[in-house]
Amino acid sequence: MTAAVTLPEDRWAAAVALIDAAPDATLVCHVAPDGDALGSMLGLARVLRARGLDITCTWGDERWAVPSSYTWLPDIDTVVPPSRVRAAPSLLVVLDTASRDRLGVLGPLADAAGSLVVIDHHAHNSGLDGVQLIDPAAAATAVVVEELVRRLVPAIDADTATLLYVGLVTDTGSFQHSVTTPAVHAVAGRLLAAGARPDAVAQQLWGSRPFGFAQVLGAALSRLSLEPAAVGGRGLVWTWTTTDDLAAAGLTLDEIEPVIEAVRATREADVAAVFKQDADGTFRVSTRSRGGTDVGAVCAGLGGGGHRLAAGYTSYDDAETTARKLLAALETAPQL
Ligand code: AMP
Ligand code: MN
Ligand code: MN
Repeated sequence: MTAAVTLPEDRWAAAVALIDAAPDATLVCHVAPDGDALGSMLGLARVLRARGLDITCTWGDERWAVPSSYTWLPDIDTVVPPSRVRAAPSLLVVLDTASRDRLGVLGPLADAAGSLVVIDHHAHNSGLDGVQLIDPAAAATAVVVEELVRRLVPAIDADTATLLYVGLVTDTGSFQHSVTTPAVHAVAGRLLAAGARPDAVAQQLWGSRPFGFAQVLGAALSRLSLEPAAVGGRGLVWTWTTTDDLAAAGLTLDEIEPVIEAVRATREADVAAVFKQDADGTFRVSTRSRGGTDVGAVCAGLGGGGHRLAAGYTSYDDAETTARKLLAALETAPQL
């Protein structure tokens, strides 16, 4: 069976040595954190705290807030805004963050820290030095963390298992994406054996949404466009949401993440896109491919990044212009 993470053994040892040498560590994940970012960070934090390190968890959003959809996570009350972090931590651990700009306002920490460990699974991780625990073939950052944690403690508790399971189940699309190997299920098996409850996690992640979500989804679907000729004939389906939609429904941006799930299955389009307007007027663009188009490359070309079949970027244009530029970029998208 191919391992869930493939890295040379001395790389793990180097990370463990830095952890053992540090009295304190700051753990940082990417801005606008998702389940893998938060679950990996908080899961590792529990293990490092148990080993005696003084741990701070944070991320670098300018308008920082705990995402409403993740307020149920174990230990979420331990996270602090970026203004409250140590200026020069002994150790900085950066998780699920493919580039320095995804650290947001915390970019300078990477230079100020005594030592650095980067834990990730993005294909194009760039811009940070330190010990690189990066495997582009890993299904989630949580999988890399699980492998590291096995080298730190003999067993994990149920909350740690739950946090890592949240990362695994989000980034594999509930074990539906092609990254779902036998080894991934073996990791899931270990997490369940340690006390993660798949039914409880699924209920929190997908079985419980505010009424306003259905209202914003309705607004998004009312604006849905299908462009069958786009993407070299493979097709694009796209829509957008506004800050007015969110205000009317009383929601925050992170709560409408699942809108893309409602449109991505459209058979006439290989690529789906949702532009979600943020409070500053910019659009956070989510893209997905049903398998024929490398949207990660397209989004990287537009200033963002991600994975081959799920990627995103920020657009500083209005919705129409965003669509026009995306359509143009998709014409030359790498075909898979
Ligand atoms: P999302 O559509 O927000 O769920 O994002 C899908 C994937 O795209 C994430 O897992 C990230 O890896 C990546 N991504 C989204 N937005 C950005 C961005 N602005 N810059 C770089 N990567 C991004
Ligand atoms: Mn992520
Ligand atoms: Mn991830």
